[in-house]
Amino acid sequence: MKKVQRRALSVMLIIICLMGGVGFFTFRFFTEGHKWVNFTANRHVYNNGVIIDGAIYDRDGNALLDTVDGKRKYSDNESVRCATMHIVGDKKSNVATSLQKVYADRLVGFNIITGMFSTTVAGNKIHTTLDSDVCAAAYEQMKGKKGAVCVFNYKTGEVICLVSTPTYDPENPPVIADGDDNYDGVFINRAISSRFTPGSVYKTVTAAAAIDKIADIDEQQFNCEHTMKVNGQKVVCSGTHGKENFQTALRNSCNIAFGEISMQLGWETTEEYARKLGITTSHSLSGIPTVKGKIASSGELNELAWTGIGQNTDEVNPFAMMRYMGILANGGICAEPYIVEKITTGSGIPLNIDKQTETTRILSKSTADKVSDMMRYTVTNNYGDKNFPSGMEVCAKTGTAELDGDKKSHAWFVGFARNEKYPYAFAVVVQNGGGGYAVARPIASKVLAAVKNKVDSAEASDKN
Ligand SMILES: [Zn+2]
Repeated sequence: MKKVQRRALSVMLIIICLMGGVGFFTFRFFTEGHKWVNFTANRHVYNNGVIIDGAIYDRDGNALLDTVDGKRKYSDNESVRCATMHIVGDKKSNVATSLQKVYADRLVGFNIITGMFSTTVAGNKIHTTLDSDVCAAAYEQMKGKKGAVCVFNYKTGEVICLVSTPTYDPENPPVIADGDDNYDGVFINRAISSRFTPGSVYKTVTAAAAIDKIADIDEQQFNCEHTMKVNGQKVVCSGTHGKENFQTALRNSCNIAFGEISMQLGWETTEEYARKLGITTSHSLSGIPTVKGKIASSGELNELAWTGIGQNTDEVNPFAMMRYMGILANGGICAEPYIVEKITTGSGIPLNIDKQTETTRILSKSTADKVSDMMRYTVTNNYGDKNFPSGMEVCAKTGTAELDGDKKSHAWFVGFARNEKYPYAFAVVVQNGGGGYAVARPIASKVLAAVKNKVDSAEASDKN
């Protein structure tokens, strides 16, 4: 009898192990299946480590990447190829945040129920919101400088331009020698994955907090005598602006006035607004995570003054800055930026994706409009409206972020077109580029001209 019991027990144990194994495999299949398919040794999908399925399009249906006879084919236009390389990805999956990498399983048409079944051999099609012409214009205007250009529609959230430089032609990837400065950080998409000292563009964040939290901000008078002493330490301005109010202080980009405003706000409000306005939080660009900015949240009083001016240890991400400009432009409501419009099978059948069409109120309409008014005043009374495409009603702010040592400043230019016919917000940064007005502003103007041109020609063709 004992023998029978022992045997029954053994059989039971074997069955338990077997079921456990099947359960474990099923679990792994559901959780890891997409990785198995995308394993680079899978010859259905890869040829010498190169993904050979699927296609990626811009908003007008131009192929940024296609599969022709089992081979990868990028755009015919070299500027478009270079401009979109960080989003589309290259032949060797060097860019971790590219669509080829992040959307690999959806590109090859893998799903958990049908596995690799696809209605065509060519895999799925990703339709992005990118505008090839605007991306190419941004790339050409960077003229080999390092940095990022971001543009999105602040009403809908569609990102039309996200260019990071340095870049290269994914059709002919260069051989990069170790330590070659021309390709420094070339695989990083600076628009979404890098942080830069913001300098005076950050005054737009401090301004929003001041409108909300300092009741008499419009009545306050400031007096800039080039320097002021805070706990024995100097806060220095680029000019000697004399008497100013809140509005003229932003136009003058006065460090003394904004240093004083920051000290009135205090650390807690400074930290609160950096977070609330999305500067120190990470965002999901259609599933691609963006880097968090960092703004100091404690320290001495002089450090607080420099923090609100966008110096101290502040570092912000260009995409987050563009997103904040969109919030101001859209009356305080954020239309969350996204880049993947839809995914279809090779034969055009739409697949379900979680398209981001979130809108959230971040600032009150009156606060957003007030900051916008001040940025518009800054353009008309300082930068000059004639330096921007006519009729766009550009609201903007420069930044010249000073860096330690003898490093050249980062040049920034951020803002938006207030005319809702051109509902676009932007951020331009040139790494160690020099002055914001001299270096980043002309790039932004040219990119805005490309945007205006696209909107106007679309309107003209609609009328015909
Ligand atoms: Zn000043």
